[in-house]
Amino acid sequence: MALIVQKFGGTSVGTPERILNVARRALETQREGNSVVVVVSAMSGVTDNLIKLAKAVSPAPTEREMDVLLATGEQTTIALTAMAINAMGGKAVSLTGAQAGILTSGVHTKAKIENIAPRQIRNHLKDGQICIVAGFQGQTLEGRITTLGRGGSDLTAIAIAAALKADLCQIYTDVDGVYTCDPRVVPEAKKIDIIAYDELLEMASSGSKVMQSRSVEFAKKFNVPFEVRSSFNNNRGTIVKEEFIGLENVVVRGISIERNQAKVTITNVPDRPGTASRFFTALAEANVVIDVIVQNISVSGSTDISFTMNADELEKLGGLIDRVASDVGAGEVIKKSGIAKLSVVGIGMRSHSGVAATLFECLGAGGVNIQMISTSEIKIAVIIDEERIEQAARLAHEAFGLSA
Ligand code: ASP
Ligand code: MG
Repeated sequence: MALIVQKFGGTSVGTPERILNVARRALETQREGNSVVVVVSAMSGVTDNLIKLAKAVSPAPTEREMDVLLATGEQTTIALTAMAINAMGGKAVSLTGAQAGILTSGVHTKAKIENIAPRQIRNHLKDGQICIVAGFQGQTLEGRITTLGRGGSDLTAIAIAAALKADLCQIYTDVDGVYTCDPRVVPEAKKIDIIAYDELLEMASSGSKVMQSRSVEFAKKFNVPFEVRSSFNNNRGTIVKEEFIGLENVVVRGISIERNQAKVTITNVPDRPGTASRFFTALAEANVVIDVIVQNISVSGSTDISFTMNADELEKLGGLIDRVASDVGAGEVIKKSGIAKLSVVGIGMRSHSGVAATLFECLGAGGVNIQMISTSEIKIAVIIDEERIEQAARLAHEAFGLSA
């Protein structure tokens, strides 16, 4: 008998019909001879609404009360799901994060899981019950309710699968799995059968969000393989697991795109130790999140520094960079929005050469100008004009044989 953890996100439990659907699937899994733990999110839109309600009564609610409030979203879903299963003649019990034994740090609204003692889950499973666990929440040692940060139900599912040493962890969502590129942009994009943790993490940090990154990091750390699949059909999804030799045969696993980026260039920055730090310390103090940074080598005692960020961050900048630039005696500051990032990702890059050449060649042939380049061991990213991003994605998808 296998132990299976199934997680259903907000859209998968978004209506009573969909909750009935979840109940049916959990029952079916149990009838196939498995022990089943179901982790659910709040019904779609509920968490956002709770945040709006809080803002309507208080400009700055305490984070303690925020967590008490937000945890009600998932608590609604666990009760409804358990009721649905019981109404179908099955046996199910709902468990809050605390009842499921999820112990967290005390940092409200973004608590970290510190320990899991799933004693109640084990006992109910022994009784033949399906356990319905509230995602996204836990409690501190002192018994305060906490939440794990947006998208935190993924983390609950992975952590419970790890603690119970589950045989299988399935993340049910509204897409069929992880794709080689966004199918709305590249119609030939295909579902990926198997992807390594690191590849999914790189794709997520480059704009392809199917799962909360923290939960993928957790799965990697505790080696919990999982499957991302759709709750609306029975298709196989994408298996996410640790690397094995065969995975390196594919050079590029997927391509992700991130729109709505902005670029700042500071020209003629004096080439002296400590100058770059002046700019980036100021940015950090203003809580501006930076992505790609490029500094050229200096030929004539000064250099250009460029960096990118989400275009929404541009507002936070105000005159900050201009002030530092004039302080350190740099030249002009050029701010430009309307750019985007394209990343090609694959662990096969470690052992194959020519990936950069193929990417730059296909973009060049299509007349797409590259403004910045950044690389990691398993990723090459280019910054280009946003209006070219879809064309670039299709060119790269084709060039790396992902359309075949
Ligand atoms: N309900 C929470 C959120 O919307 C947690 C989750 O859905 O994973 O962020
Ligand atoms: Mg979610």
